[in-house]
Amino acid sequence: MRELDILQKHKEYPIEACECDTNLKRELKNKEKLINAIFQVANIGVCVTDEKGFFQMVNEVYCKLYGYNREELIGKHFTIVIPEENHDNAIRAHEAFISGEVEVSNEWSVITKDGRLLSVYVTSTLLEQEDGEKCRVTTITDVTEFKEAYNKLNLVSYALSTANDGVIFTSTDPSDILYVNEAMMRITGFSKEELVKEQKGFLKSGPEDSKFYEDMWHQVENHGFWQGEIRGVKKSKEEYVAELALNKIMNSDGQVTNYIANLNEITEKKRVEKKIHYLATYSSITNLPNRQFYESAVSQVIKAHKDPQGKVAMIMVDLDRFKNINDSYGFSMGNKLLRAVAYRIKNILKGVSTVAYLGEDHFGILLDQITGMNNVCTITQKIKSAIGRPFVFDKNYIYITCSMGVSFYRRESKGSEDLISHAEKAILKAKNQGGNCMQVYTLEMDRKLTRRAQIENDLKTAIYNNELFLVYQPQVELLNEKLVGVEALLRWKHPTLGMISPDEFIPIAEETGAILSIGQWVIKTAAIQAKQWELDGLPVSKVAVNLSSVQLKHDNICMLIKDILQQVGLSPESIEIELTETTMMEDIGRSIDIFNTLKEMGLKIAVDDFGTGYSSLSYLRKIPINKLKIDRSFIMDLETDFEESIITKTIIHMGKNLGFKVIAEGVETKEQMQYLRENGCDEAQGYYYSKPLTQNELKDFIINHYISS
Ligand code: C2E
Ligand code: CA
Ligand code: CA
Repeated sequence: MRELDILQKHKEYPIEACECDTNLKRELKNKEKLINAIFQVANIGVCVTDEKGFFQMVNEVYCKLYGYNREELIGKHFTIVIPEENHDNAIRAHEAFISGEVEVSNEWSVITKDGRLLSVYVTSTLLEQEDGEKCRVTTITDVTEFKEAYNKLNLVSYALSTANDGVIFTSTDPSDILYVNEAMMRITGFSKEELVKEQKGFLKSGPEDSKFYEDMWHQVENHGFWQGEIRGVKKSKEEYVAELALNKIMNSDGQVTNYIANLNEITEKKRVEKKIHYLATYSSITNLPNRQFYESAVSQVIKAHKDPQGKVAMIMVDLDRFKNINDSYGFSMGNKLLRAVAYRIKNILKGVSTVAYLGEDHFGILLDQITGMNNVCTITQKIKSAIGRPFVFDKNYIYITCSMGVSFYRRESKGSEDLISHAEKAILKAKNQGGNCMQVYTLEMDRKLTRRAQIENDLKTAIYNNELFLVYQPQVELLNEKLVGVEALLRWKHPTLGMISPDEFIPIAEETGAILSIGQWVIKTAAIQAKQWELDGLPVSKVAVNLSSVQLKHDNICMLIKDILQQVGLSPESIEIELTETTMMEDIGRSIDIFNTLKEMGLKIAVDDFGTGYSSLSYLRKIPINKLKIDRSFIMDLETDFEESIITKTIIHMGKNLGFKVIAEGVETKEQMQYLRENGCDEAQGYYYSKPLTQNELKDFIINHYISS
């Protein structure tokens, strides 16, 4: 069927019926042309199919859409443009349409000549012709691209609505919120409407300061984006932390069209991080920052100062005899005390400085804005009195004192370690002075400590390198000036430091434990020497050997002496053990046991430095002592100090009453000697008679004084 035929079927008047009316014919012809032209030029695909679905007319656009030319379509069934799998559906729909059951205004998937699938939007109209035949006029629009775009948009929208991150779109005005997704509502707790209406200033104000927001938007305006952490407040008034990515969207002309904010809530992550950080940098005992935190705080403070010299300082606080608290009350009480001390110190400094717990019983206070020593002294005074107040736990009153070390940052200091290690050195000095005081680090301290470190180290090899030797100081009977014995005194000739006094190295040897091997060496050397004198026939009937408290604490001191005496073949009466009064009283029970054993072995015991400790008379009676040795400090002032002379006299009388021999040490003058003799002191030792002598010198001394006369 030709197109014209169809049009003829639509004509108002049948052509044959108006043979006479040529005007009408012309008019019809014109209309026909017009409709045809419209049909062809229409910017939309149009086709006409008969009841059975065969194409009767197709326009230009329709052909182009499917890639056929008109001849290829006219007379063909419309399923030519329907993918095979949809043929049945399409035919059913067509039949239903023709029978007037359904309106067709629908989307269809169609197929082009070259096999491309397209989405088209179809609108059909049913025309019934005079002969009763029906035809279907269909217009189609290609919606493939639109559909693709639509699908994409759907996908994006789905992605946004199911995303974990909160997303906000705004218009060109950042407070004009156009879109918020579900996550945004979940994070903030606000509904879409609340966010749009009430939270207009959402990314312009919040818990951060106004400068923060200014900088953020400045960056967005100038660089197109901002990324970072931001805090916000939820509807529940809770604060949250989020990672925010803020982007400015521009069109191809470079004009801003929107802003997009992407918000990833990290409150929980931050909380966990904070907790981990807290655990890593805080002490759970004291609730104060720990050493690691303190060290980095010191470094930061030093870096922050242009010239930290004199402005940055630290105070280290160390509790005196804290170990005793742990020992007597237990660790939990010790921890309570540390916490209370931490609280008191922190209270004094009330947020001005960093207060940290550096471990054990040490606290560090970092001062970063000091203007001088006065500043520091005010603080140390306050700390001293705060810690000096009694601590009360479970009705226990605990009294403690503290030692403090102060160090100032110097230009030549090497970072935080120096500041801390200098404070530690200062505290060591404070401790050495008996504690309960404050010391400021000086370079001199460093020199002393370096020397100490060298002594500590070199002591280990001093015996092996033959650097130790003994000297012997004569002990004389006051009445007849007879030589009753000698005291063996230790000497150390250091290869580079020269002669080092036992007063300097023995305390170090005691601390490090080196005194055990050194002490053993002393006993053995003295025993061998005594044996030698015996063999040489020299009248040295007894060698006094000093024992340190550390040796006394060691289990086998009695066995050790016994072994040495046996090895050397020396009779025990030839050795006298000197122990200071303080050492003896430190653990009186143990001292009594050891002294009893030594006495049973046949050794004599002298209490050294008598008068400087606190012996009780009742104990003195119980201990098998042979001799009291009056401390040099009393003898020194005998002539000038009346009180000292009375004490000396009292000691002599008391000692003698208890049945001990009494010896005075440090006798330097004839007057001292005479006083002692007049007051009944038995023996004396000191420069008045002789300085400590080497074995050769002693031999000469004896020959000169005792044998030649
Ligand atoms: P110490 O046992 O009280 O020894 C007496 C100290 O006084 C010795 O000092 C001696 O040289 C000194 N001295 C003696 N007479 C006089 C005097 O008239 N005037 C003055 N100003 N001083 C006098 P040294 O030898 O320097 O010994 C110091 C301390 O070192 C000793 O005091 C003792 O505590 C300790 N020491 C020495 N040798 C040993 C040892 O072999 N073992 C142990 N554990 N300690 C020792
Ligand atoms: Ca002594
Ligand atoms: Ca002494």
